[in-house]
Amino acid sequence: MTTLESNGHHSTHTSPSHTNPGTQNKPRLIFWELTKGCNLRCIHCRASATELSSPSDLSTETAKAIIDQIAEVSSPILVLSGGEPLFRSDIFELARYGTSKGLRVALATNGTLVTKQVAQKIVDSGVKRVAISLDGVDAQTHDTFRGIPGAFDAAITGFRNLKDLGMSVQINTTIARHNAHQLPQVLELAKSIGADALHTFLLVPVGCGVDIASEQMVPPEEYERMLNWFYDQSLTGGIELKATCAPHYFRVVRQRRALEHRSATAAAQAAQPVLVAPADAPHIGPTDMTMPGSTGIELKAQGIGKAVGHPGAHPSDMNAMTKGCLAGTAVCFISNQGEVYPCGYLPALAGDLKKQPFADIWENSVVFNQLRDVNNLKGKCGCCEFRNVCMGCRARAFAATGNYLDEEPFCVYEPRSESLKVYDNSLAEVAR
Ligand code: SF4
Ligand code: SF4
Repeated sequence: MTTLESNGHHSTHTSPSHTNPGTQNKPRLIFWELTKGCNLRCIHCRASATELSSPSDLSTETAKAIIDQIAEVSSPILVLSGGEPLFRSDIFELARYGTSKGLRVALATNGTLVTKQVAQKIVDSGVKRVAISLDGVDAQTHDTFRGIPGAFDAAITGFRNLKDLGMSVQINTTIARHNAHQLPQVLELAKSIGADALHTFLLVPVGCGVDIASEQMVPPEEYERMLNWFYDQSLTGGIELKATCAPHYFRVVRQRRALEHRSATAAAQAAQPVLVAPADAPHIGPTDMTMPGSTGIELKAQGIGKAVGHPGAHPSDMNAMTKGCLAGTAVCFISNQGEVYPCGYLPALAGDLKKQPFADIWENSVVFNQLRDVNNLKGKCGCCEFRNVCMGCRARAFAATGNYLDEEPFCVYEPRSESLKVYDNSLAEVAR
């Protein structure tokens, strides 16, 4: 994984703790790539998993010590992932240990190794929710993406084995060009097999994703249509549905809700000539910036992991003061070697658990503290009226320009302030 910078022990780069944003932000969702080992060969895998075993993985004792350190800071949802986490022989011991420390442990797996016996062990280890990846509505689509014939059927069997024991199971789907058209069918499949949730995630060009990005990334306009479809679906209910790591969905929701709830007065105002804002992008004032209650990114007070499975997904127990991308603010990622990143898709090294305690990294990391201040955002995200609730995907910004503070490249919205600048410029042109 490429690294940008590390704060090491250099807490001198940061504010004193009484003003340090790190003390105001508690980790609520931690993704832990416990191993790079995996039995599948997914073409988009962020872990670039190529080995069946992964000798550089942390030892059981080191992993337990890290759990202790996390528990000292807060009681987040801890998502054990990989690679394939079931490749670790101590996976159930670690899940049990995390649970005993008060963490809410979830497991993100490809599902193919979940026999009836394994399902029982998962339940017994205290795991609260399992996320299984399905990247297509049929075996052909899924198996092609996952690189192994039979992976789809095995994942469905694993799903059923868990559901038979009453486990809460969600489906995670990575969206790319090859399966974007199947999204409605994937939703129907998730509902029909009794999934507790469907979380979708747009491919981020890191890891193996870099190689397929040019042919598999969904264009921004289609992404926008997809997010609007999500909004429509969120109104119909029937299943918990999330557009994971789609920060501008928070913008779409506000735009759609403003359109739907516009009062007669507001409608009259909207009928006034709008100089530059697109017709489908009404200006939303701060009073509209409340968390919607019935959107795909519904945030509830209790329950595990209405948000597990994708690095950087958004926990369901967030309060209303949340935003689209929570990388470094409430979410972080731990690699199989103990390196800490804002999320699994953003290779900006925040610290190393082999050298520093978790609390030091969480509170003093330069990277994390940069991400906690929206004033650091550049480009159109930097001047966008939605930046406090959206923030854009920092990983996609990094993939596009090498600067994770740059603008999100997969958002079609032109911020009003930026539009006004354009308008001012065109007025200046006319005046010349
Ligand atoms: S940077 Fe934020 S939105 Fe992007 S993948 Fe990471 S957590 Fe998700
Ligand atoms: S411009 Fe950036 S902050 Fe504004 S809606 Fe798009 S991604 Fe979000």
